[in-house]
Amino acid sequence: MRYTILDCYTDEPAGLGVPPYLGTYPRYLAGYLLQKGHQLEYINIDDLRLYKIYKGIKKEPSVKEKTNIRIYNTTGKDADEILNKTEILIIILGCHVPGKYLSALPGTLREITPLISELKCIKILTGPAVHGTQLEGGKFFEKIQEDVFDEIMEFNPTYEEIADYAIRGSQLAKQIPQLRIMEIETSRGCPREKGCSFCTEILKSPFIFRKTEDIIAEIKKLYSLGQRYFRLGKQSCFYSHPDPVNILKKISKSCPDIKVLHIDNVNPVNVVKDEKDGAPITKAIVKYCTSGNIAAFGAESFDPDVYEQNNLNSDAETTYNAVKILNRYGRENGENGMPMFLPGINILFGLKGETKTTHEHNMKWLNRILEEKLLIRRINVRQVSIFEGTALYEECGNKYIRKNKRYYWKWRNDIRQNIDNKMLKLLVPVGSILKDVYSEIYDGKTTFMRQVGTYPLIIGVKGRLPLNSFYNVKITGHMLRSIIGEII
Ligand code: SF4
Repeated sequence: MRYTILDCYTDEPAGLGVPPYLGTYPRYLAGYLLQKGHQLEYINIDDLRLYKIYKGIKKEPSVKEKTNIRIYNTTGKDADEILNKTEILIIILGCHVPGKYLSALPGTLREITPLISELKCIKILTGPAVHGTQLEGGKFFEKIQEDVFDEIMEFNPTYEEIADYAIRGSQLAKQIPQLRIMEIETSRGCPREKGCSFCTEILKSPFIFRKTEDIIAEIKKLYSLGQRYFRLGKQSCFYSHPDPVNILKKISKSCPDIKVLHIDNVNPVNVVKDEKDGAPITKAIVKYCTSGNIAAFGAESFDPDVYEQNNLNSDAETTYNAVKILNRYGRENGENGMPMFLPGINILFGLKGETKTTHEHNMKWLNRILEEKLLIRRINVRQVSIFEGTALYEECGNKYIRKNKRYYWKWRNDIRQNIDNKMLKLLVPVGSILKDVYSEIYDGKTTFMRQVGTYPLIIGVKGRLPLNSFYNVKITGHMLRSIIGEII
């Protein structure tokens, strides 16, 4: 059969598949289809938009315009021809923790429905959208219009199956002409028996680990195909894998020219536990990963009531201690000019029990961190998306969002003005030099660029520089969350 994978990109609490990331869904699915002997094409939502909405014409933005990120990541393939020959179209879609994306825009169910409804092929929907999807925080998930799809398929192979699919599917990365960071899976589900009130990870799978040798085999294969950027990002907590030190050691040994090796989510509780054992995991991350690395702490709230009522993973004191530990080992600058390994903090609005004092608790702890000159690489503030099956959905839905929405702009702005901006100045003072910064989009006469890796800082540079190129940049100023620089 002739299959086509249509990648509309994915963003989940554990796992990112929005460019410049290439997620695990398309790679595993490709491996599965190839193993079954099917013919396979890969296109993405940008290709579909280019063909359906822009009639195949990609215009250069004028000096007053912004790069059109809706069609920035096209593969260069003829989507029209591919779709006409397709017998079965598998659509990968779903955002559970939507963010702001510099150079891509994930597809939504609402967007793709009119774009694919006329196609004659069989249409199968898969990806996180099977559990609902929402591109905007603070809202309920989008419902699937079932008559558009012939099948809604949960693609959830076992780790034994993935051992094979991941290797076969790695060739998919070759079909993408632009730079991509390979999102790599280490575990599934969440080790906590009862998860956080809002989280969909525990609904998807019990907590299971991928074998170290399978992870290494996949990375080695991707590396042999020319991939050099990796993030061990598809897991709820990197420290929870039983063998994280070995994983890092082996990657570093087998892929000597790796350019980026980063991780993502970490439960602060496990950083504190690791420290009590002599910090083997934290030390290994600093030693074997590349600089600019971040452990994203899902703190969500520093309010003790919100912590209790939502069964959050880490209380304020523990998160603070974990911030201190990572600063102790990871704050020194590495090769690319950024600290080796820092914490990032996620704050979530709209959780059960949220009151006006919640923000005061958040500011109290963030201020303490700042006053003690501890570094946080980034603070992610978002409104919770509410998914069916979660405790939040069952117990209170959007009650707290409705109640407190009027404060959110003020709260967020307080964090941006009074924490983020000051933190940025500590992190990358004027005169700092950041290396290997990749130019991605234009906005008017400014080029926006960032280093390749996990949560990189966005840097605005005056003028229109050639895109998709690497530069070294000297920092000349700070915005609220981004920085200004000049090429050196
Ligand atoms: S710790 Fe909470 S947010 Fe993280 S995966 Fe587990 S349930 Fe989800």
